[in-house]
Amino acid sequence: MASRVAVIGAGTMGNGIAQVLGQGGHTVVLSDIDAAALERARAQIDRSLGKLAEKGRIAAADRTAALSRIEFTRDLADVTAADLVVEAVVEKLDVKRELFAELDRITKPATILASNTSSISITRLGAATRRPGKVIGMHFMNPVPLMALVEVIRGQATSDETTRTVMDLSRSLGKTPVEVNDFPGFVSNRVLMPMINEAIFAVYEGVAKPEAIDEVMKLGMNHPMGPLTLADFIGLDVCLAILEVLHDGLGDPKYRPCPLLKRMVDAGWLGRKSGRGFYTYS
Ligand code: NAD
Repeated sequence: MASRVAVIGAGTMGNGIAQVLGQGGHTVVLSDIDAAALERARAQIDRSLGKLAEKGRIAAADRTAALSRIEFTRDLADVTAADLVVEAVVEKLDVKRELFAELDRITKPATILASNTSSISITRLGAATRRPGKVIGMHFMNPVPLMALVEVIRGQATSDETTRTVMDLSRSLGKTPVEVNDFPGFVSNRVLMPMINEAIFAVYEGVAKPEAIDEVMKLGMNHPMGPLTLADFIGLDVCLAILEVLHDGLGDPKYRPCPLLKRMVDAGWLGRKSGRGFYTYS
């Protein structure tokens, strides 16, 4: 059944999440502190729905209907009526904790508070509220409209009912939810990031050039994209931050970020978004 959902943060992930919820028939409030981000999100959602319509994957009428279900706002007070809030703001623990405490104050006690975090502990976010049983991870993949997976993360106190509701909702959006427990990096980044880090160590130690490493993984392991191309796509700063979460959280030296990764981030070589990473982009 369609319900009222709020998405906080209208960046790369937030706009995609708002779009799939709008397509799924939900009334969506998309909130961001930055008016320009909201304008960019509206344009991006319109463009993305337009492409889907052109390819015949949605009807022209659904394109306008989906967009019309999304309200864009800078006022957090507009999310108070939501049954579910999906948080997709910057990956900073303090910002997210403060936001969860505020959402806990302003929403109904029954509202589920979900986070799209890539690496921050769901248990810690839950502890910032008086409803840790209703706090859960809902980790969508980028680009949200195209990627099938939602990694559903149970914090220490997340209830069975909250988990069931979020799994059912994800399925109703045409996604495949997979339930995991709250440990650093969850499953997706715990498995992916050490592989990316190892590929960077292979460059650092002169085992092979980036192109060769990516080619081996694409042709030999059937990966659609080599690990260094993928690292540039994700952002090298994001990869470093996640490796630091794994290293600190699990305390095992095998997660030590490669010095080359640190040096590239220090140089501002962040991958695709800065025009230079393991490859150059124009
Ligand atoms: P982004 O930088 O593109 O967007 C973040 C948005 O949050 C910005 O528009 C910013 O103005 C807004 N914001 C910051 N503080 C806010 C606040 N207090 N209230 C409201 N809005 C606020 O970031 P993103 O790439 O969309 O990532 C968002 C979240 O999704 C992060 O937790 C990230 O780890 C996670 N994530 C990202 C990816 C990815 O590939 N980019 C994939 C999976 C998960």
